[in-house]
Amino acid sequence: MDYPLTLAQILEHAHRIHADKHVTTLLPNGTLHRYNYATLYQRVKRLANALTELGVQRGDRIATYAANTYQHLELYYAIPCLGAVLHPLNVRLSPTQLAQIMRQAEDKLVFVDSEYVAQFQPLQDKIDFLQPVYFGPKSADTDTSYEELLSDAKSAYTWDIRDENSAMGLCYTSGTHGEPRGVLYTHRSMYLHTLAANQTDVFGLTEADVVLPIVPMFHAMAWGLPYASMFAGADIVLPGAKYTSIANLIADTGVTVAAGVPTVWAAAHPELRKRKTDISSLRRVIVGGEAMPPALIEVYEKELGVEICHAWGMTEMSPTGTFSKLRSKHQNLPDTEKWRIKAKQGRPIPGVELRLATETTDGFKELPWDGETIGELQTRSPWTANGYYKIEPTPEHFTNDGWLRTGDIATIDAEGYVQIVDRAKSLIRSGGESISSIALETALLKHPYVQEAAVVGIPDEKWGERPVAVVVCTKQTDENFSDILRQQLISEFPKFWIPDKFICVDEIPKTSVGKSDKRTILMQLTGSQPPVEKSRIRNSTRKKS
Ligand code: ADP
Repeated sequence: MDYPLTLAQILEHAHRIHADKHVTTLLPNGTLHRYNYATLYQRVKRLANALTELGVQRGDRIATYAANTYQHLELYYAIPCLGAVLHPLNVRLSPTQLAQIMRQAEDKLVFVDSEYVAQFQPLQDKIDFLQPVYFGPKSADTDTSYEELLSDAKSAYTWDIRDENSAMGLCYTSGTHGEPRGVLYTHRSMYLHTLAANQTDVFGLTEADVVLPIVPMFHAMAWGLPYASMFAGADIVLPGAKYTSIANLIADTGVTVAAGVPTVWAAAHPELRKRKTDISSLRRVIVGGEAMPPALIEVYEKELGVEICHAWGMTEMSPTGTFSKLRSKHQNLPDTEKWRIKAKQGRPIPGVELRLATETTDGFKELPWDGETIGELQTRSPWTANGYYKIEPTPEHFTNDGWLRTGDIATIDAEGYVQIVDRAKSLIRSGGESISSIALETALLKHPYVQEAAVVGIPDEKWGERPVAVVVCTKQTDENFSDILRQQLISEFPKFWIPDKFICVDEIPKTSVGKSDKRTILMQLTGSQPPVEKSRIRNSTRKKS
């Protein structure tokens, strides 16, 4: 059959087969809002009618400025299912950046979370051509209220997406290096991504799961979890804008699978550890966006008995590319060996093609999968973009033979396990050799003094660049902490890899999606602004031999 793959199929299936499953949202007042898929379905249909009444047409971009809540989930379905394009805005970007993005996207409407009304105001001033719809109560008669729109709308709506290749979503990269770029997803690409993500050896969600996406719904479509969870019939828990305790949320709702960037799990660990018995429902944590340090994997698996699944992907890949699970032959390995394998970014999920390449004068040459050869990671799949929104594809991002250049430098071993060595833009070039910032950070994090670490390359007249480590220390550190950390690295790395300086700071700057913000760190180290150093800075400069 020529059967179009659309998100309406996911919604209809979820409603028909799993109508009694629940969506729970943590509200700002600390209470839980809870309804079932049947109610969600009725509200989505009303919303589709309301949007149509507002003049929304096929192909229109509709922005959301919202946290992970049930209203946002309703928009995740209503907008694409009526043929328009869902455009979740990264609420942590500046109003100037967002206004530029919205102008490029030509958003027709914007939905605003009740918790973000004040922070939306400066953006509203820049995009006053758009009348926002507010999730919360109206503050002026001229405001448009989401709930009023829904209660005034008709309840019957028939989905009519015939072309599976029509756009369903527009997401911008988080802009870790450079300005955010837009990526357009189609119904077909998101449907296929959902099927792939739900395989047992990938997210492996089932009807019995209770899924907590802590990853924001504006970060690469919450990694596809809103669609994967509902297709599986899992309960969904949405943390809203102001969760204070992940442990309480897990304990109160019986979360079995949670997903977020490593920073979230590093911060949550002390609290989860205290509440070990209450959070016994949690069986798996999906983590990605940046490298999950093996030391963190170890504490979760050993102390909390929670399986850590490390994933790699990109906004350009909808976003899932690889998923790290042990193979059957690894089951009898010692734990430390298992964690070492799990700390790799994993193997390509079914449907994703990867190649390791190096650029030559004759084009790209493929490199061997031997776990040692380092090359540029390139990919293609039914859910990988072949261009950026309203930007002509350039050879910097796409090859002539149709592969996406991920910008990541990696090795791939004979079994297909990818290990990201660095982003090309973060790789430190010193004296003509490469130094992996990720490898140094991973090694530093093994030391009990080190809670967080980021290594950057600062310009150096003689060597081109030299590594400098910025670390958050766990407690009162030793006066000689630089020497201690240097010793920690010296046995693992060549001498020229060892950072010239170790700087202890209170916190490491983060990007809008919680990754280490190396651009800002570099600026603080080299520019006019000093890094946020502790009152007593203990650093030292290594003499190069
Ligand atoms: P941005 O490039 O602006 O950060 P994305 O959030 O889409 O936007 O980030 C994709 C990039 O994040 C990847 O190319 C890779 O560099 C990094 N990344 C994602 N997952 C991982 C991971 N598990 N380990 C290391 N790096 C990762």
